[in-house]
Amino acid sequence: MGQIVSLRCENCGNKIDLQIGQGIRDNNLDIVLGYFDVTSQNLIKDSLSSAGKDAIWAYSRMIVSCDVNHNIQAVPTFHIIENREDRIVAINCNCGGTHTFISVDDIINGTGCKCPKCGKTFKYSISELWD
Ligand SMILES: [Zn+2]
Ligand SMILES: [Zn+2]
Repeated sequence: MGQIVSLRCENCGNKIDLQIGQGIRDNNLDIVLGYFDVTSQNLIKDSLSSAGKDAIWAYSRMIVSCDVNHNIQAVPTFHIIENREDRIVAINCNCGGTHTFISVDDIINGTGCKCPKCGKTFKYSISELWD
């Protein structure tokens, strides 16, 4: 089950819809690999084969701010959880830069999620997405 987070800037009219979380079929590795480019797919496969036998993987679409172009978007992320440590091994974003994660709590609190066009705090709405 995922969520849709809708961000709306009352100052400049900027509007961003973000689909986050994971769908029902996203526990299937072949389906999940399809969300990533070939470079990331290879990184994921290498990370899985070098992880310990108790490691598990997880997939989620997460909200990030791209540090290069300051876009806010929801991107596929691939996690390996080993020894209670959640490690993100791949993020599928074509900006070529690094990313700052924005949690739903950050959005609700109004921190860490400013309109990239004008810098004002977004209004938000969150709806459940059943797929
Ligand atoms: Zn704005
Ligand atoms: Zn990016």
